[in-house]
Amino acid sequence: MSISEDIATLSIRSIRDGLLNKKFSATEIAEAALLHAVKHNEATNSFLAFSPERAVTNAEKVDSAIAKGEYVGQLAGVPVAVKDVLATKGVRTTCGSKILEHYIPPYDATAVWRLEAEGALLVGKTNCDEFAMGSSNENSAYGPVRNPRALDRVPGGSSGGSAAAVAQGSVVASLGSDTGGSIRQPASFCGVTGVTPTYGRVSRYGLVAYASSLDHVGPFARNVEDAATVLRVIAGRDDQDSTSAFTPVDDYATMMRHSLRGLKLGLPKEYFEGLQSDTGDVIHAAVRQLESLGCEVQEVSLPHTRYALSCYYIIATAEASSNLARFDGVRYSARAEADNLSDMYRNTRGAGFGVEVKRRIMLGTYVLSAGYYDAYYRKAQQVRALISRDFTEALEKVDALVTPVSPFPAFKIGEKTSDPLAMYLSDVYTLTGDLAGVPCMSVPCGQSPEGLPVGLQIFTKHFDESTMFRLAYQYELFTTQ
Ligand code: GLN
Repeated sequence: MSISEDIATLSIRSIRDGLLNKKFSATEIAEAALLHAVKHNEATNSFLAFSPERAVTNAEKVDSAIAKGEYVGQLAGVPVAVKDVLATKGVRTTCGSKILEHYIPPYDATAVWRLEAEGALLVGKTNCDEFAMGSSNENSAYGPVRNPRALDRVPGGSSGGSAAAVAQGSVVASLGSDTGGSIRQPASFCGVTGVTPTYGRVSRYGLVAYASSLDHVGPFARNVEDAATVLRVIAGRDDQDSTSAFTPVDDYATMMRHSLRGLKLGLPKEYFEGLQSDTGDVIHAAVRQLESLGCEVQEVSLPHTRYALSCYYIIATAEASSNLARFDGVRYSARAEADNLSDMYRNTRGAGFGVEVKRRIMLGTYVLSAGYYDAYYRKAQQVRALISRDFTEALEKVDALVTPVSPFPAFKIGEKTSDPLAMYLSDVYTLTGDLAGVPCMSVPCGQSPEGLPVGLQIFTKHFDESTMFRLAYQYELFTTQ
């Protein structure tokens, strides 16, 4: 088979073997991945920009290192894509917004340069909801992404382009950002693996901020092992981000090979009430498979779950309204003409931001305003502490929690755009993980009767990504054999 046919199925391990055995070169991979991405973009719109120079330059470095018998990085020759909210030096970074249509960052996000330092080939930047606000990718100023598994459906959001780029086979892995579910929900909708690491596990330096206390950078991949390999590369302390943790990064790939015998799993009862039965059936079947692998399952409770959605939309919008103040026509962004300064701000932001972003800035400004701060923002922070405590207490009893990722599979494009509240419900099972800052992921676990992918969500204790990967890896091994 030629590399152009293989490109959609290669793994990090098979690329490494192929390169070292001279079956193909990194330059050939870069060219094949770029061609694949450009071709499929017509159908899916998952990329906003391509970066052929970066991909080919890094591929040539990998090829020359192999020719000289030098060290080759852990991601040598692996085609990757990154969400357009991560800064890439010299490559346009729009955040899916008109306000940054012409913004070219002068530096790379830490997660991006760490990928390339290990030999990854950056194919391009992926489409997303504007400033990562959304659950369907329909809020992008550059048009929606179509789900590669069903082109009339959304890929999920906000990292829809990153999930679709992996699902369509153009890249082996990609990066997304997750504030309330934006990695796990699109991973689940597109049938790929998506990981939201512990808050602070991966540097946020160079990630354009949505809600800083909730934002996480994490990988999408074709399988669990590749997701773990990518996370290991991007994780770890970075002096450029004071919230990044000093906690050492485990060797996930080794630890995930341990059997699941005796592992205690909790099923939070609040996550199974009101679940669509089709999705519920798939999740229950996955839990039975985990039991057959030796896990001990028990019901647990996360009693404050019902406040999570309101709590999240107060905190996230409050932080967003403050973070987005920087797009003012003076720095970064395009400037609209006006006779005086306040009109210039108004015109720039009025023309540059889309409706969802404006809705959130207004909501966030309101909850932070003098008369309402205590009633809304402070209260939401107190509730957040209770939600976080729910996780701590449940994870003292069990090693991991398993739940659905979303109450329903990928919906039709346009189905929920007129009802923001229905859209916000997409994240009802995911945003608790961000509020608590615990590691969580989505691993494919079957299909709905219409043939749409369904993801199983796993939560573990802070910095215990190893147990999360072990569970996902052993499950994947069992179900794909
Ligand atoms: N859908 C949620 C929101 O719109 C989550 C988005 C995200 O995780 N970036 O805020």
